[in-house]
Amino acid sequence: MKITSVKTAATIGHGMHLWVKVTTDAGIVGIGECVHGGHQAIAIIRNLETKLIGRDPFAIDALIEELRREHVFDGGSAGALITALTGIEIALWDVKGKALGVPVYELLGGKFRDRIWVYCDCQVDPGMDFDEIERVVHAVLAKGFTAIKIDLDIGAYSAGRISGNASAITDRRFEQTFVKDKFNYTAMQREHERMVQLVDMVTRAAGKDVAVAADLHTRLDVPSAIRLVRDLAPYHLLWLEEPLPPENIDALREVKAHSTVPICVGENLYLRFAFRELFEKRAADIVMPDLLKCGGLSDGRKIANLAELYYVPFAPHNVSSPIGTMATAHVCASIPNFLILEWHWNERPYWTTIIKQKQDIIKNGYIELTDRPGIGVDLDEEVARQHQYPGTTWFD
Ligand code: MG
Repeated sequence: MKITSVKTAATIGHGMHLWVKVTTDAGIVGIGECVHGGHQAIAIIRNLETKLIGRDPFAIDALIEELRREHVFDGGSAGALITALTGIEIALWDVKGKALGVPVYELLGGKFRDRIWVYCDCQVDPGMDFDEIERVVHAVLAKGFTAIKIDLDIGAYSAGRISGNASAITDRRFEQTFVKDKFNYTAMQREHERMVQLVDMVTRAAGKDVAVAADLHTRLDVPSAIRLVRDLAPYHLLWLEEPLPPENIDALREVKAHSTVPICVGENLYLRFAFRELFEKRAADIVMPDLLKCGGLSDGRKIANLAELYYVPFAPHNVSSPIGTMATAHVCASIPNFLILEWHWNERPYWTTIIKQKQDIIKNGYIELTDRPGIGVDLDEEVARQHQYPGTTWFD
């Protein structure tokens, strides 16, 4: 079998969802997805197509590593090049599974479990009072979820550091500025107390049977993070995510040393290589690589295997569609140290409409694995195209 074309399309979802369609001379077509690669990833894939045509789609790891090494001076360690390769890599897994008539998890060594635990990103607004928070949390729990995550980086929103995020402050009562300087990572008393208060309200609203994680989106400096993890100690959080900017592993280790709250990082790290220092320095309690940008399913599995050596759980970041979510679920099935997988499409009604199956892949907070070949979920191009990303082409 040989690859005959590699084409992209993009839709609006959680930012841009970039689709990669790999066709073969056997008539088998694979669909991959990647996120956070932007228009750069589209251009990169367009340029890589000529190198992929005529190649064996089964030699997934070798093909991706060859392209990565060829472009080692063009960003072959992190960023859009890796994300572009990720979209191609996932499409190749879909091709191979379909060609062999087996689900991707069978190609990854088989499954440890039949269903994948999923948590729901919960749109808790920093300005909400307890009754409002309770309503939001209970609406999510009514869908069957038993784990949720909230955003705690309220200072970043009030300083205008983050814009266009679904959970940006919508309640104007909380527009008052926590941070005077948008480049300063220090949380002053008012912001610090509000973060603790939010965790208190959300965990009370959720109850003890629900796992609650909180995300700081790289918001704090070291002293602010240490103060926060100490005051969050009484709460049984599933984890506190990215308290610091992602570049300095030693600084993260310093925060972790002061924390009884598990520290979870990884969505801004690329490839297995970036995780080595994290594990060797014991700087994280839980890792959450984004398999739709960090290198794909092979690298995701390698990161999980590295984590296993240190008894670190694997809880992938995931903002992708049902296709990327299911692709990630195959890796989650194939490793022993899987904890939980993210779902970030609450309040986006077209989640199920863009797949041919027209059934939600998540039921009662779990993804049930199937024996459908490849990724097992197919793109409904006609519906997906209704959400086409402006300024992009559609598989041509
Ligand atoms: Mg995060």
